Amino acid sequence: MSFTLAIIGRPNTGKSTLFNRLVGKRLALVDDRPGVTRDLREGEGRLGELRFRVIDTAGLEEATDDSLPGRMRRLTERAMAEADLCLFLIDARAGVLALDRTLAEMLRKSGARVILAANKCEGRASEAGLYEAFELGLGDPVAVSAEHGEGMGDLYSAILPYAEALAPPEDAADSAPIPGADDDPLAERRPLQIAITGRPNAGKSTLINTIIGDERLLTGPEAGLTRDAIALDADWGGRAVRIFDTAGLRKKAKVQETLDRLSSADALRAIRFAEVVVVLMDAAQAFETQDLRIADLAEREGRAVILAVNKWDAVADKQAERRRLTEMGERLLPQLRGVPLVTLSGLTGRGLDRLRDAVEAQHRIWNKRVTTAKLNDWLAAKLAEHPPPAPGGRRIRLRFMTQVRTRPPGFVVFCSRPEALPESYTRYLVNGLRADFGLGGVPLRLHLRKGE
Ligand code: GDP
Ligand code: GDP
Repeated sequence: MSFTLAIIGRPNTGKSTLFNRLVGKRLALVDDRPGVTRDLREGEGRLGELRFRVIDTAGLEEATDDSLPGRMRRLTERAMAEADLCLFLIDARAGVLALDRTLAEMLRKSGARVILAANKCEGRASEAGLYEAFELGLGDPVAVSAEHGEGMGDLYSAILPYAEALAPPEDAADSAPIPGADDDPLAERRPLQIAITGRPNAGKSTLINTIIGDERLLTGPEAGLTRDAIALDADWGGRAVRIFDTAGLRKKAKVQETLDRLSSADALRAIRFAEVVVVLMDAAQAFETQDLRIADLAEREGRAVILAVNKWDAVADKQAERRRLTEMGERLLPQLRGVPLVTLSGLTGRGLDRLRDAVEAQHRIWNKRVTTAKLNDWLAAKLAEHPPPAPGGRRIRLRFMTQVRTRPPGFVVFCSRPEALPESYTRYLVNGLRADFGLGGVPLRLHLRKGE
């Protein structure tokens, strides 16, 4: 176990629940009643391939003469002294309370390494609290639900940079499952999560109805989704899928402006839940501003993207139109280079098999992991083919590369002078990764880190 993580926060924010989830044994006692006596726990935490010591500061809630803030302060000080990294938990349902602010202030002043997490984020009731958490001055909060196991992938991403700095990988893990990833054995049983997004009248409801056919199974609003966005479970040609419909199935608002605003808020929500985002466009008016905005949003949220051009049955010169649209996609969405463009008709059902194949292919790419050995052979070849520049007469060295995450794929390159490496060189590497490892059309992150 390479470093120590302390879970800090006021009573009832869910520290024990999170501790249990990280440690994986149901040792800690969870109880709603304030004032329950518990001991300070520690255990081996696991998150993906990360292994660390976790200490749970829940435990000084027994009645003493001391005031609660006083006890919390002492406890937090003790945990900070023992930990390399503090995970500060707030309860997003309750919002930010005075005691949260006191603890946040202490953490800020101490200079400790802190990750802020907002717990109980599985439902809508947490939204306001999550935004309030930004005010604490501890960076962007990671939204989690300790009880439901949501946000563990994001928590992993937040801890990873610290883990690497505190205990650099001797042998970067190529095989360990990341929670929620496809190589996580539990993932196979889960349906592939798809968001069908697009402007009003693009044909979302028609397409979804065709996919789902008779076996429509309304799962009802997923926790955290509004009643406007609905999750539908289906078997799509043998593959279990869960489709997040955005504005498609609800009654349409009268005012176009309201509709546009609503549908982008819904789209964002659906995008966050999805693994693959289908940007459905009407062939008669493809690549309008809102389509590009949705695609860009999906990219920034790290989702796999598919461009789907609907109502293809109504297109006359299909070949010419296809060429034109492909060219537009490449030009207007360079951040998604290689993104598939599928033409289809939700009404007639033509092209739906192509869409399904594309969804599966992009999902696989999104989950793809390249071994460290392969990456470093590749890096050596790319460096030889086109050496990095040598500003001031000193050549920038790129020494080691590893994939640090999937969903979407993320890579770290250790570099002698990251600040001096021109953007064009990073682009050269990213484009090379896409081309040589078949990583087209998914967001791809490449981080430079200073290292010899
Ligand atoms: P602690 O006092 O900070 O250790 O908090 P606990 O882990 O004992 O949790 C306090 C209460 O919050 C318990 O009733 C938990 O079941 C509940 N809780 C913990 N995590 C979540 C969550 O993600 N969502 C919701 N809704 N409740 C949670
Ligand atoms: P939504 O607002 O995105 O859910 O769009 P709808 O599914 O309600 O479709 C909007 C309109 O486009 C309706 O009149 C549909 O009949 C029509 N439509 C949907 N898909 C197709 C298609 O593949 N071809 C044609 N020609 N019309 C379609």
